[in-house]
Amino acid sequence: MIEFKHVFKSYGQSANILADINFNISRGEFVFVSGPSGAGKSTLLKLIGGLEPPTRGSIMVNGQSLDSMPARERPYLRRAVGIILQDTHLLYDRNAFENVMLPLAVMNLDYKKAASRARAAIAKVGLSGKEKLNPIALSGGEQQRLAIARAIVNRPAILIADEPTANLDQDNASRILEVFRDFNRVGVTTLIASHDMPLLQRHANRTLLLEPGRFKDLGKH
Ligand code: ADP
Ligand code: ADP
Repeated sequence: MIEFKHVFKSYGQSANILADINFNISRGEFVFVSGPSGAGKSTLLKLIGGLEPPTRGSIMVNGQSLDSMPARERPYLRRAVGIILQDTHLLYDRNAFENVMLPLAVMNLDYKKAASRARAAIAKVGLSGKEKLNPIALSGGEQQRLAIARAIVNRPAILIADEPTANLDQDNASRILEVFRDFNRVGVTTLIASHDMPLLQRHANRTLLLEPGRFKDLGKH
């Protein structure tokens, strides 16, 4: 589902952030990417989502090779990959429902169908009844769940999230992980970057450890 072969990444003239990264993630897996801040976790997720090109090496996502993919096709990749970045990019000039409707605007669905999908996504993350609220009126955990609803409303095969539990207390963090697990149970391949070691230890999953200059597949533990 996601395959990295000898992937290198540097920004401009900088040293390699990622050097010779190799791994395979199968359809339906639930995987953590852990490691200290600055190790390159966000960069790894952005490569998978096609938001950044690799400097060298080959990346396959959902049966497509990113190497040969022209920039104009990247939006198609984006439809296969739901991304929640650290800055959730929620829009505060519209309500929660309208935020979730956004990714559907480019899909030529009629309004009724799009609205029913958006409502379903909002229900799945436990935010029914809050559709009309501005995201600013939601708690941190609720905003994170709204970002998840927006990321899955297109029904992507892959869901990736960058530090989705940052700034949340333990209860809210666990709740967020449960939301991801629900999507994973119905077959969505899920990849979560986090440096919250206690959280990762509470939820045993396959873990890819990224440290400056070192990459290790710790397997399931
Ligand atoms: P992590 O998510 O593990 O904290 P990042 O992938 O965000 O790590 O960052 C890894 C390194 O790459 C950091 O040193 C960061 O400053 C650098 N970096 C990230 N994005 C950019 C960018 N767009 N341009 C230049 N350097 C960047
Ligand atoms: P930026 O480059 O400023 O992060 P983008 O245009 O790449 O902005 O994306 C804006 C936001 O849209 C991102 O923060 C991301 O959360 C969301 N997004 C992008 N692609 C997808 C996708 N396939 N599924 C869900 N959300 C997406």
